[in-house]
Amino acid sequence: MARYKDEQCRICRRAGQKLFLKGSRCYSDKCSISRRNYAPGEHGQKRAKLSEYGTQLREKQKTKSYYGVGEKQFRKYFEMASSKKGVTGENLLQILESRLDNVVYRLGFGTSRAQARQFVNHAQFEVNGVTVDIPSYLVKAGDVITVRESKKDNATLKVNVEEAKNRPIPTWLEKDNEKLSGKVVRLAAREDIDLPIEEHLIVELYSK
Ligand code: SF4
Repeated sequence: MARYKDEQCRICRRAGQKLFLKGSRCYSDKCSISRRNYAPGEHGQKRAKLSEYGTQLREKQKTKSYYGVGEKQFRKYFEMASSKKGVTGENLLQILESRLDNVVYRLGFGTSRAQARQFVNHAQFEVNGVTVDIPSYLVKAGDVITVRESKKDNATLKVNVEEAKNRPIPTWLEKDNEKLSGKVVRLAAREDIDLPIEEHLIVELYSK
């Protein structure tokens, strides 16, 4: 059972960096990366040098883990990114950032993307006054995300909002702590995204 509980931390340890998959624990000294920054398993401390393909694959897996997206959906996002004007890798990250579960997390309503996804699944949010329970819903500039009136007393949500008061909100979003709402001022640009992702490796992988 303990192994199962640590599964998300094992993903980080395999990637060799924090992927912030466990909420507040990720910001504490209990984080497994702070304590054991080597791959899990018997030979974890001897990191093998990865091939070019292995490096590209790892970057893709890492990005999927960050956003909690499966292979099929990730591939779909890549195709959407390729068909848009601009740099494919940057388009891809913009699409991932636009997912409703990510926006709810970025606004500080959830301590992790996984928790934010659960909140969205439980129909806790409205977009422009309409309940949306689809975590993959893609927001647009100008959209307003609000906690539904009937969900405003949710104890976990209240704690999260209180704790997030000191957490910076990305500049492409605005938050109103009183109304428990947030606005998408514009879509995220590459420089807004603070995750250590080398998106060109993903583009190279899918271009083979
Ligand atoms: Fe675990 Fe979070 Fe640390 Fe990753 S960042 S190892 S999920 S505590």
